[in-house]
Amino acid sequence: MTVISKDISKAIEILNNEDIVAIPTETVYGLAGNIYSEKAIRKIFQVKQRPLFNPLIVHIHSIEKIDEIVSELPEQAKRLAEAFWPGALTLVLKKNPNIPDLITAGKDTVAVRIPNHPETLSLLQKLSFPLAAPSANPFGSISPTNSTHVANYFSNTISMVLEGGACKNGIESTIIGFENNEAVLYRLGSISIEEIENVIGLLKVKNKQEIAPNAPGMLARHYAPKTRTYLVKNAEKFIKNYSNKKIGVLRCSNGTSSLNCMHLEELSKKMDLKEAASNLYAALHRLDNLNLDMIVAELFPNTGLGKSINDRLERATRNE
Ligand code: AMP
Ligand code: MG
Repeated sequence: MTVISKDISKAIEILNNEDIVAIPTETVYGLAGNIYSEKAIRKIFQVKQRPLFNPLIVHIHSIEKIDEIVSELPEQAKRLAEAFWPGALTLVLKKNPNIPDLITAGKDTVAVRIPNHPETLSLLQKLSFPLAAPSANPFGSISPTNSTHVANYFSNTISMVLEGGACKNGIESTIIGFENNEAVLYRLGSISIEEIENVIGLLKVKNKQEIAPNAPGMLARHYAPKTRTYLVKNAEKFIKNYSNKKIGVLRCSNGTSSLNCMHLEELSKKMDLKEAASNLYAALHRLDNLNLDMIVAELFPNTGLGKSINDRLERATRNE
């Protein structure tokens, strides 16, 4: 049985024992272990069924710890860290030789961030090691944004979820790497391209095929419900063809139209994309638990966080 608890000292005890604990962050819940414990890190991969070629993000509590993790901090990376840490930005940088290959999937770079969550920052401050923490979901499934999501996934395999409430941002961190002294977007996320460009100017955005070799694990199908899911421009029009099916619809706002479906999830009535992002995964979890014939998601405006939401919906709706 998994215990959901706010007891930080219990989490410390488990982590010091080379075991793993689920932790809250402002993006999604993570499955955390000591980066220097091969036992803990192997358990993360095994419990998640995550392939070993998919590297993990290292979490630290202060910029002073960065030298322990990376061997170089380019000027642009420093500016981004100052602007967004603690926060939902992951930087991929040249790794320090003492970072185990298991964390980085053998690459000479490492992904690192300072999460912005009071309980997890407090936990990190009390530990003598950084934490590796991928999202606390089985590989490929919907990411968890509250402690119950995590406990439902891992009730037989992890002993504790550190309770930290619902994740404020509700979508994974934005990942930026550096190639030939140029900042490159590896994953859309909680911080929009526009916000990043306000700090460092134009950001190189690669197409999906180009990203794959540099950010292993950016698989086409990911974040996916068990229920067959479609991504469409206009949900109302689409579901007219399936009048005999049990359908759940996920979209940004109600507008004026009424929909003929079993269950409707509207992520932000005021069309606030930040609010929509924070509700996205919880809505997908709810829809997926209703035994529907299909989930129909409507494309979001392709701007700001709408791009990140659309990216996740595209991956969730690849049915092949
Ligand atoms: P998750 O922890 O599930 O949010 O996934 C972390 C993601 O970070 C991985 O899927 C990779 O795409 C990316 N990542 C981690 N480490 C590296 C690295 N060294 N180089 C490029 N991408 C990385
Ligand atoms: Mg993940």
